[in-house]
Amino acid sequence: MSNLTAIPRVIISHAPTALEHMPQLSKVLNRNVYVKRDDCTGLAGGGNKTRKLEYLVAAAIAANADTLITVGGLQSNHARQTAAAAAKFGLHCELVLEDVKGTPKLDYYQNGNMLLDNILGAKIHQVPDNIDSNHYTEMLIKQLISQGKKPYLIPVGGSNEIGSLGYVQCAQEIISQIKQQAVELDHIVLATGSAGTQAGLLAGLILAGIDIPVMGICVSRPAKEQVVLVNELLERTLVLLGLDKNLAKGKVFANGDYYGEGYGIATKAMIEAVTLCAHHEGLILDPVYTGKGMSGMIDLCRKDFFSAGSNVLFIHTGGSQGLFAYQEIFNPS
Ligand SMILES: *Cc1c(COP(=O)(O)O)cnc(C)c1O
Repeated sequence: MSNLTAIPRVIISHAPTALEHMPQLSKVLNRNVYVKRDDCTGLAGGGNKTRKLEYLVAAAIAANADTLITVGGLQSNHARQTAAAAAKFGLHCELVLEDVKGTPKLDYYQNGNMLLDNILGAKIHQVPDNIDSNHYTEMLIKQLISQGKKPYLIPVGGSNEIGSLGYVQCAQEIISQIKQQAVELDHIVLATGSAGTQAGLLAGLILAGIDIPVMGICVSRPAKEQVVLVNELLERTLVLLGLDKNLAKGKVFANGDYYGEGYGIATKAMIEAVTLCAHHEGLILDPVYTGKGMSGMIDLCRKDFFSAGSNVLFIHTGGSQGLFAYQEIFNPS
């Protein structure tokens, strides 16, 4: 038994999300490709942050907070889902958002997730280029407290051991779905950024005693650094669950070959991956995470890292709302 059921949680997700076989993509890649549809978690467009927010919002409510604050890039999917969760639970939301260098500029400031953040009623603070966003956030928290508010800070991507529990839950869903569908997975692949999704998923698999390798495709930093980040968070999540942190040993894999010049900066392979999944499955990925994650999965199939005929599950972590900020890349005029 673990501590999981004793930890406060609010229900937001439309779970279980589907775990679907992808027949067209399977043909193209000569692997049995499955997709876990966490783009359909149901909160204001969905995505992986919704599962994390079930635990983070519960923690905020337990702390008597009236305001959620979080931090991210201007097109952060996490910020959008946090704004929606705040609205759903009658909380205020303050978003501290940074510009991202090298991203398309036509729609980046007003369309996609930014449009939705505004519609959802969040207060947006665009951090000036010369100011550190952590410093900005500290000042904002002080200011809110002096106004009599009770802010609760959710870290970037909702990635701490509390947020990761959302993916412990998701691992349990996947385990029961593959049993039901009689599928034996050889690999799980996902895009990894702030690390909570991969750490939580691994913690959930470890908790269940199931050994399926999970490959994180990096979207923002080299593999070596990503492995350290995921591993630290995995250890903390295991401890929160009442498990031995040493169970994390040898479990964290990441590949840093597919993020190109940096976070949010388009790559040719990302555009190909987004187009391939749309053309062959009607599956809409995103330009920042799942497009790059899938570009890695495709390449690792071509290179036989995932061997022919193997069963591979891709976690669709959402983000397609971000496509509307990247239209000039997909529709060059
Ligand atoms: C945040 C995000 C990820 C990465 O998840 P982390 O837990 O930050 O590693 C992947 N895909 C999408 C669409 C995201 O918004």
